[in-house]
Amino acid sequence: MRRFFLCILAFFGCCFAADTSNPIRLKVDLTDAPRNFFHSVETIPATVGDAVFVYPKWIPGNHRPSGPIANLTGLHFRAGSQELTWHRDPIEMYSFHVDVPTGVTEVEATFDLISADSAGGGGPAASSNLLDLNWNQVVLYPQGLASDAVQVVPSVHLPEGWKFGTTLTTAHSTGSDVEFNPVSLTTLVDSPLIAGVHYKQIELVPAGEMPAHFIDMVGDSEEAIAMSPADISAYRKLVAEADALFGAHHYRQYHFLYTLSGVVGHHGLEHHESSDNSTGGRTLLDPADHMLDAALLPHEFTHSWNGKYRRPAGLATKNYQEPMIGDLLWVYEGLTEYLGDVLTARSGLWTPEQYRDALAFTAAVLDHRAGRTWRPLEDTAVSVQTLRMLGSQWQNWRRSLDYYPEGELIWLEVDSIIRQQTKGQRSMDDFCRRFHGGESGSPKVVPYTFDDVVRTLNEVTPYDWASLLKERVKNTSTHAPLSGIERGGWKLVYNEKPNGFLSALQKDGKHTDLTDSLGISVGRDGELYDVIHGSAAFTAGLGPGMKLIAINSRKYSSDLLRDALKSAHETHQPIEVIAEASEVFKMYSIPYYDGEKIPHLEQVQGQPDILGAILKPKTGTN
Ligand SMILES: [Zn+2]
Repeated sequence: MRRFFLCILAFFGCCFAADTSNPIRLKVDLTDAPRNFFHSVETIPATVGDAVFVYPKWIPGNHRPSGPIANLTGLHFRAGSQELTWHRDPIEMYSFHVDVPTGVTEVEATFDLISADSAGGGGPAASSNLLDLNWNQVVLYPQGLASDAVQVVPSVHLPEGWKFGTTLTTAHSTGSDVEFNPVSLTTLVDSPLIAGVHYKQIELVPAGEMPAHFIDMVGDSEEAIAMSPADISAYRKLVAEADALFGAHHYRQYHFLYTLSGVVGHHGLEHHESSDNSTGGRTLLDPADHMLDAALLPHEFTHSWNGKYRRPAGLATKNYQEPMIGDLLWVYEGLTEYLGDVLTARSGLWTPEQYRDALAFTAAVLDHRAGRTWRPLEDTAVSVQTLRMLGSQWQNWRRSLDYYPEGELIWLEVDSIIRQQTKGQRSMDDFCRRFHGGESGSPKVVPYTFDDVVRTLNEVTPYDWASLLKERVKNTSTHAPLSGIERGGWKLVYNEKPNGFLSALQKDGKHTDLTDSLGISVGRDGELYDVIHGSAAFTAGLGPGMKLIAINSRKYSSDLLRDALKSAHETHQPIEVIAEASEVFKMYSIPYYDGEKIPHLEQVQGQPDILGAILKPKTGTN
């Protein structure tokens, strides 16, 4: 990295030096957060000539060019009191050219950020009560430099009375002004800050024990952040279980930053020494929301090892302008999905039954993903730039970010094979200790390739891993890879019994999911979110975007639709539907007679319960 950095400096004529002796000073005024407006004032060392300042474009964890450039407003460059003219690069929208006059050694850049996009996940980053500051959204830096080589002294001015959480360390603070110790631009972008009127911090390891782990919460109200003793002990268990799984850590301290709000955008974004988690305002209060979101913190925590410390070579870029290559996201995200869900069960945030219900739902969704017949899984990873933030229409045919859930099934298969091959002596836990463990210490990035993954698997137990993984990610298929579930002693079945996870997703009637039977997913008022390509509903002519008006001559309701499925099963008469499409009403006849199909995992008698063994805690019982 260092040698590469010197080469780049030579190439660009060594115009800048924002190093430890001459850092960028960045002040962010957050007092307008309730209006979703952050103000940035930055002093950047510069020398004479055509200077180019860039706004971070390729955002770690987003894996795509999601830097919110359209939200950068009110931009000015000045040298003392002199206004400097600037122009945007006509090709590269994230680059600003500034003509720096003779005698000027530093440039002041000021701009406002419309904080309408929280962590690249959509939805606002702030409300009247709280905010989530991702530093990449409020910083410009000199073009061409490695982010490791740029030093920044960050500071914030908070709304009065708001408290904050971050992994950055405070140099000094006065009232609402906080200045942090100097860090590299890499560390700054890796260290978001949350703040709010309602704030609470919980220590997850006994005081004095290293490394320290905290949950920092901000929420819409005091009730929203009132974490129960059971949850606190589960998150303590999560820390212990992750330590037992990986055997080493690559952070000096760890902060789970947790926003609980019905107002701001919801997301999870991983970092080395913290994670930026945002869920609904009732996640700690409502059992259904609690179950649906239980795996979020374990997932983002797992990324500290899988994603931040060990990172696919194509995602280990030198700065935020260099494009990312996502072909190994089925390891980066898929293995994290697998380990995160396992840790959710091992820590007691899910019961084994809840884990199985969630896994059955995942397996069923993927088994009805019609797009798998034309699009290999790896292409969903390579295409992350185009597949994020799309709507639900024809999602099953286009495919989505399937490297997350399908990666989970693949890694379950790998774990089951290791356990079978070694008669239970080894598992993915051994892989994790070798691949993600090593020596504990400060954050660092160790890039890997497909061959490194295969080599480590072969060290755990010899097998033709390369062929298996290539088959799973590079080929098309008609069905989801369910072998891990089956080797684990379970099978995917469908019946009419409720699945707790699926029921929670459909609570309050906002959504009716019949993708595994009729082939449709329906909104509260009959709007078709998606229609499975090749399903009975598809063959009858229905498509997403249409609206169900009547079922068997009666006004549409979710209950009526379910009744019609039952009745068609008994009478063998087609379901008659009136649907509206682009202001035209039309009748459709659906000859579907198999009733509602709800996914479950059913244990196979006489086969060892490998899945049960996978979910067992490593640090004593729950
Ligand atoms: Zn992730």
